[in-house]
Amino acid sequence: MDFTLSTEETEVRDWVRTFVRREIMPLEPDMLRRERAGQPGLTLTELAELQAKAREAGFWGVQTPQEYGGMGLSAVMAALLEIELGRSFVPFRFGGAADNILFHANEEQKRRYLVPTIEGERHSCFAITEPGAGSDARNIRTSAYQDGDDWIITGEKTFITGGNEADFTMVFAVTDKQKGADGGVTCFLVDRDMGWKSEPIPTMGEWGPAALVFDHVRVPAENILGEVGHGFALAMQWIGRGRYLLPARALGACERLVEMAIEQAKTRVTFGEPIANRQAIQWMIADSAVEIEALRWLVLHAAWQVDAGLDSRQAQSMAKLYGGVKANEIVDRVLQIHGGMGYTRELPVERWYRELRLLRIYEGTDEIQRRTIARNLIKGHTSVRGTLG
Ligand SMILES: Cc1cc2nc3c(=O)[nH]c(=O)nc-3n(C[C@H](O)[C@H](O)[C@H](O)COP(=O)(O)OP(=O)(O)OC[C@H]3O[C@@H](n4cnc5c(N)ncnc54)[C@H](O)[C@@H]3O)c2cc1C
Repeated sequence: MDFTLSTEETEVRDWVRTFVRREIMPLEPDMLRRERAGQPGLTLTELAELQAKAREAGFWGVQTPQEYGGMGLSAVMAALLEIELGRSFVPFRFGGAADNILFHANEEQKRRYLVPTIEGERHSCFAITEPGAGSDARNIRTSAYQDGDDWIITGEKTFITGGNEADFTMVFAVTDKQKGADGGVTCFLVDRDMGWKSEPIPTMGEWGPAALVFDHVRVPAENILGEVGHGFALAMQWIGRGRYLLPARALGACERLVEMAIEQAKTRVTFGEPIANRQAIQWMIADSAVEIEALRWLVLHAAWQVDAGLDSRQAQSMAKLYGGVKANEIVDRVLQIHGGMGYTRELPVERWYRELRLLRIYEGTDEIQRRTIARNLIKGHTSVRGTLG
């Protein structure tokens, strides 16, 4: 069994590591200051400038197929890069990306939605969650009925990431009540100027999602993504696109946080000795390091399964669950090691503490991941012996 990276993987990873150190981490103090003044930490223009810098070095569309100008990197490579990006709380992402389900668009839709999104000229959001349907997404109530060549959409979506900035949404609506999620949900590409409204939702994190309202919004039939009634499968494909990428980002954060904790433990003296000499502190560092290592291999193993074309759903759920739970335990320990300073807004620890909490909720809560994992085992789809059998 070979756990080493190839020369190419190491080179690509190291380039991103340097980019994060030189271009992204220096923005952190300013970003914290702005956020604390109630402003966005990083504006879309600043993000675009950083993305352009990375593009000059060839980093554009990390997982976008080469025929669309992307790098078409493997899932393992994408996970390695995400770990590096996670080391900073600056919300940088490489440009040239588009939601995976937009690649199912027809040629005309690709021209109007996919290509401009890849080029950063248009911004999308994915809207399935509703006030009455989150984990239970099969239970959505937003509906659409046909009126001549158009469809009329009515309903409310909530917690939509990017919903305040997006100029179009991929919204899921019931088009056949009898069939529901089994052939009665359709995905529509809906421009903001077709009439939907958004309202920011304040959260404990630094960026807020949006509530979207559709009040008889008229959408031409040509804006249906995929086929009528096949929307729920698309939604599941979107949600499943990167359950290894969210914990990969959290893993990078945990690495940096534990490095900060080690530094603090070596320099903070109490009762005449650095706290690093105390077993209570050492155990927190040791447990965190073991969990980081375990998470690394859960993430990379899930990504490897994606690349190998295997059914990776169990591995992805495990990585997402473990990442969410452990990242929260680790940031809590790191805050504890920093004492009162960890609780202040002078350090970024409390910011990470708030942000990492989300990982246990969105794109499938802890409980829903456990439900998936247990069901796969109980029904015999997977075994506790894992992929080695
Ligand atoms: C910041 C943020 C960004 C988001 N971005 C998006 C987005 O871009 N697009 C989008 O469509 N949605 C988005 N969401 C929605 C997110 O996916 C949902 O919040 C999530 O799926 C949970 O749904 P819920 O909030 O309705 O909780 P509920 O489903 O009401 O769950 C409440 C609690 O009950 C538990 N629970 C539910 N069912 C079961 C069960 N069967 N067994 C055991 N426990 C159960 C849950 O785990 C949870 O602890 C976002 C949410 C947040 C907070």
